[in-house]
Amino acid sequence: MISPIIIAIDGYSSTGKSTFAKEVARELGYIYIDTGALYRAITLLAERFSLISPDNKIDEKGLRTLLYSESRPQITFRTIGPNNLCHTFIAEEDVENEIRSLKISDRVSYIAAIPVVREFVDQILRKLGKSKGVVMDGRDIGTAVFPDAELKIFMTASDEVRAKRRLNEMLSKGEDITYDEVLKNLKARDYIDTHREHHPLTMAEDAILLDNSEMTVADQLVWIKNILDKRDNEGIGRS
Ligand code: C5P
Repeated sequence: MISPIIIAIDGYSSTGKSTFAKEVARELGYIYIDTGALYRAITLLAERFSLISPDNKIDEKGLRTLLYSESRPQITFRTIGPNNLCHTFIAEEDVENEIRSLKISDRVSYIAAIPVVREFVDQILRKLGKSKGVVMDGRDIGTAVFPDAELKIFMTASDEVRAKRRLNEMLSKGEDITYDEVLKNLKARDYIDTHREHHPLTMAEDAILLDNSEMTVADQLVWIKNILDKRDNEGIGRS
């Protein structure tokens, strides 16, 4: 019996990681874990508890106390609606739309650079990945969270393609936003994510590069299927 694996998908902002990761998980019957949603939810909590100032100074001590307090609001993923969409909740509140807003996108990389936040999220992710059979997308999954993941993919796409994709996604959710604002946010996040001291975004040496600038989701599924088939032929397990 071939054993399940961990598929780590890292890459720059808005390269379509979550769309791709969800589809891969669906195809394989794996669990999909959106690690960025955890950082976004913590950012929302930090805002609500006034642990981040308007100029993005962070009260690290306060954040540690909040994250490790027995009575902290729980962050969970729940499937809702007829299409089983996965939404992020804080306690009983569905915060899915709020954590995707530009306001949170503009601040999340500052929160994600704080060691105590990464340590907290890493613990959750390692538990979730323990039984394997997961597809996780993020910035440091293949380098720091699961350096032994059996399959690592690093995603990239042109700035223009990424900004257009993100703009359409945000406009469809009713957000009032321009192409330039989206592009500025993507570049700022990429800069902070690649330059932070703790677990910066970088391509793992054994990751496979996927530039999907000119690829549809269907193309990307064919691409990964070829990789998985090749691995199967070589006897490397997955299901
Ligand atoms: O994936 P998403 O764009 O939702 O991630 C939001 C932010 O969370 C990223 O820009 C990055 O700062 C942070 N992040 C991270 N490590 C991860 C996932 C996300 O630092 N594994």
